[in-house]
Amino acid sequence: MSRPAAEDSAACHEKEFDVDLFVIGGGSGGVRAARVASGHGAKVMLAEEYRLGGTCVIRGCVPKKLFVYASRFRDTFEEATEFGWRLSAPHFDWRSLVAAKDREITRLERLYAAGQEGAGVEVVRSRAVLEDAHTVRLINNGRRVRARVILIATGARPELPHFDGIELGITSDDIFDLKTFPRRLVIGGAGYIAMEFAGLFAALGSDVTVVCRGSNVLRGFDEDVRQAVAGSYTNRGIKLMVGDSIRRLERRGGHVGDGDDAGRINVTTEQGGRLVADQVLLAFGRTPNTTSLGLERAGVKTEADGAIVTDANSRTNISNIYAVGDVSNQFNLTPVAVREGHAFADSMFGKNAWQVDYSNVPTAVFSSPEIGTVGLTELAARAQYLAVDVYKVRFRPLKAAVTGDCEASLLKVIVDCESDRILGIHIFAPEASEMIQVLAIAVGGGATMKDLMSVMAVHPTVGEEIVAMR
Ligand code: FAD
Ligand code: NDP
Repeated sequence: MSRPAAEDSAACHEKEFDVDLFVIGGGSGGVRAARVASGHGAKVMLAEEYRLGGTCVIRGCVPKKLFVYASRFRDTFEEATEFGWRLSAPHFDWRSLVAAKDREITRLERLYAAGQEGAGVEVVRSRAVLEDAHTVRLINNGRRVRARVILIATGARPELPHFDGIELGITSDDIFDLKTFPRRLVIGGAGYIAMEFAGLFAALGSDVTVVCRGSNVLRGFDEDVRQAVAGSYTNRGIKLMVGDSIRRLERRGGHVGDGDDAGRINVTTEQGGRLVADQVLLAFGRTPNTTSLGLERAGVKTEADGAIVTDANSRTNISNIYAVGDVSNQFNLTPVAVREGHAFADSMFGKNAWQVDYSNVPTAVFSSPEIGTVGLTELAARAQYLAVDVYKVRFRPLKAAVTGDCEASLLKVIVDCESDRILGIHIFAPEASEMIQVLAIAVGGGATMKDLMSVMAVHPTVGEEIVAMR
């Protein structure tokens, strides 16, 4: 990546620019880039139109994981009795959970603000748009800021298809702050968000139906994992309507989701299904936040879906404008946005240029049990390699022997026959997210099946099954 020498930058900055770097968006990618660039001596300004921390902290990963923790107590309470505990009937209070979540994200938001301030980044609470390739306009006060480099890190928002009554539905942005707990929840879509919220709301006590247009949930994940999670959800009482999608939502008197005698929503599906819901969660994917951003004024190219086109250095077609995170719609995961922001800032303002390695990005779905996955699915491996071996084990964790839980966990390893190299690992088991984080080190490092089998087990654990496969 080309980088002007520091002296050029300073001279250039004095003459033409107010700042070296203007970051639009204070989410995962933006705050990391701003902090690191400032640490390298750049004069940085960052604009955030909503709350510092972005989707992950305010209405994504963090509040979601807190809700997942809350939901898992149901199983724990039930299992505890099998281990000798005597409990009085536990009672779940939705408002207390929402309040606890609010306290934590407010704490994190302050931490992010302090981090930016401590690093010397000037944070502006405003929407920002591009006026041209070097000028950003702050919507709150109309101020124009000239920047040598601009980083677009505006993230994404829920994608909404068109059907009658869609305005009656809510998205993941709204679900964290519902006034009333939804006793009947219908979810449209069957991806990450749908499956995570279906699992957690069912465990908190909702009657959940997932309307999935495909033949199974979680398209793109390994087939065995998809079957396992669908079976598990069905056993837990979650209704999966596959091969169907929502056609219409209608209000049934009163205000949706507002108190016991409030109005409900009638849901009609394409296959003629009829459901009644307190809330309908629309989880149809996310679309990059590039609308009305002034990209056309700066000449920045986008894909048909609005995603900003970038190269391996996160650079757009305009040489001083970069984009990281969900706005470029590649791997829409927090660690990817963070790393892209870091690589950009180091390469542009530091002494070491580097690029993000997108091979073997691990990911987890926080269902219960969890899904952890890294590398190729069996289907993808068979399409790309001449011959693959598949090692698969289904087992009941030790704890389940006492609790009577019949649910099988699944571990699956895909191996290239020729080199013995591990191409992918897929797990559906308790703590799969933790396991896959560590296993990704082995897969990324080019581990072979022989390597895996030579590792001594830690006993008794769920993870030992992966080194005991034959
Ligand atoms: P964001 O974090 O979305 O930040 C963009 C910021 O830009 C926002 O704060 C926005 O307000 C601001 N902004 C937008 N336009 C402007 C403008 N014109 N001017 C000023 N500010 C602007 N990923 C995981 O890895 N693990 C998870 O468990 C996980 N769970 C998720 C759960 C949910 C419900 C959702 C929705 C997402 C989840 N994700 C998860 C994905 C993760 O949140 C995103 O990949 C990540 O936040 C992307 O970071 P970003 O910096 O690209 O964008
Ligand atoms: P996903 O892309 O994961 O899933 C979207 C779902 O909506 C799919 O089931 C898709 O079906 C379906 N769908 C899309 N359009 C329509 C339509 N018009 N009618 C009916 N169904 C439709 O998106 P999510 O919204 O669940 O999540 C967005 C992204 O956020 C994720 O891809 C992920 O990158 C990130 N995320 C990560 C999490 C994590 O790391 N744990 C958690 C939550 C989000 P089909 O498969 O047939 O296309």
